Amino acid sequence: MTKHARDRAVVLGAGMAGLLAARVLSETYKEVLVIDRDRLGGTEQRRGVPHGRHAHALLAKGQQILNELFPGLDTELTSAGIPAGDIAGNLRWYFNGRRLQPFDTGLISVSATRPELESHVRARVAALPQVKIMDGCVIRGLTASADRSRVTGVEVVDESGTDTPTRLEADLVVDVTGRGSRTPAWLEEFGYERPAEDRFKIDLAYTTRHFKLKEDPYGTDLSINPVASPSNPRGAFFPRLADGSSQLSLTGILGDHPPTDDEGFLAFAKSLAAPEIYRAVRDAEPLDEPVTFRFPASVRRRYERLRRFPGGFLVMGDGVCSFNPVYGQGMTVAALEAVALRDHLRDAPDPDALRFFRRISTVIDVPWDIAAGADLNFPGVEGPRTMKVKMANAYMARLHAAAAVDGAVTGAFFRVAGLVDPPQALMRPSLALRVMRNSSAKPSVPSGAAV
Ligand SMILES: Cc1cc2nc3c(=O)[nH]c(=O)nc-3n(C[C@H](O)[C@H](O)[C@H](O)COP(=O)(O)OP(=O)(O)OC[C@H]3O[C@@H](n4cnc5c(N)ncnc54)[C@H](O)[C@@H]3O)c2cc1C
Repeated sequence: MTKHARDRAVVLGAGMAGLLAARVLSETYKEVLVIDRDRLGGTEQRRGVPHGRHAHALLAKGQQILNELFPGLDTELTSAGIPAGDIAGNLRWYFNGRRLQPFDTGLISVSATRPELESHVRARVAALPQVKIMDGCVIRGLTASADRSRVTGVEVVDESGTDTPTRLEADLVVDVTGRGSRTPAWLEEFGYERPAEDRFKIDLAYTTRHFKLKEDPYGTDLSINPVASPSNPRGAFFPRLADGSSQLSLTGILGDHPPTDDEGFLAFAKSLAAPEIYRAVRDAEPLDEPVTFRFPASVRRRYERLRRFPGGFLVMGDGVCSFNPVYGQGMTVAALEAVALRDHLRDAPDPDALRFFRRISTVIDVPWDIAAGADLNFPGVEGPRTMKVKMANAYMARLHAAAAVDGAVTGAFFRVAGLVDPPQALMRPSLALRVMRNSSAKPSVPSGAAV
């Protein structure tokens, strides 16, 4: 017998990170309770995940892990009519105002909206015999041993918030309540230190609206994505959706927020590096009102640097690290952390939080550095611009210029941005040579040309 039982794990939050944690916990715990304050049904938008209204894409690595954890998920999604294609061959990308040459990487992107993806994953998790999803349940706080050395469970109330709390005992509690995680406050309440935080203030906002288009700007592409860069700081994600409509998420950094009035929204769309987006939406039928989500800063909580942490308790997902969303990393990092949790549970009968945090910290390092490096390319973002960051950004500018004429460079870039290959892969001599040779060549497909 192990020192601590693995009878019950309680997962706080049924967002993507919570569902993925529950999936791996079901391999080792007899019972896994997943608690969320929202009523969880189909694919409708919900209050607890306001960011779910905005464009969400899974990176290639995330897609691979989800398919491993839920065999056949890709096929299930495409059978439900969700468009799928190659991440660099069927998504139209613009960087620094230039359109990248397409390239078939063999890495699949399934163009599900966040609620669609979450509802398929949730159905798979709910079907696991060990898992029970308790929706409409609000987390009030943790319970702990008398000496506060161990978390023993959680107190919940129903969604009206008026009844007396119910106590749920647990051998392990996992906080996956997202950016608003109360773990730092709970730690303080129990006499522990709060984690240090790394922050990049980016003052970003997404404004999203759905349209029924009159003309097809996509051809065989799934989405048109002009990514914000210092020369073109306004960005967008413009995928076509399963029901034939299109979602336009405009992104603006450093206070240049996309407006919600018709005129302002269209004027912002007109200023994008991909002119076909404005041409497609100017006469299209809007299906809803534009909605804005503000994202003041990327935040990384350094739990791995703490010296003490209560037993029987972990935190994962956005509660540990919340990335600038334009790089599409959050759900993939949640998937990588779930794999790390599975590996950790194999090694340690009773999870050791500080070892687990060190393990996920190595998972977070690369995407955090990619995002921070790209953010520091914007002169208005404050932070240390080391020689490494400056050199990496200078090289990336040349790489994106080369990718505008050389599809193999596009492919290599998306393998790294998709967290499939390590960043060093972009420095391979054969690739570096292509970058040097092609970075001043003129693109053969003019920027903004519709296919
Ligand atoms: C605008 C925007 C766009 C994004 N785009 C992408 C993208 O393209 N690709 C990508 O990979 N990531 C993207 N992300 C990030 C991604 O959404 C998250 O990283 C990912 O979903 C993991 O989040 P999470 O599960 O940790 O938290 P969340 O998604 O915030 O889920 C937390 C859950 O906890 C529940 N909860 C919270 N508090 C309580 C409480 N007290 N009681 C009960 N339940 C509670 C909530 O209802 C919710 O279900 C984007 C984020 C934003 C803001």
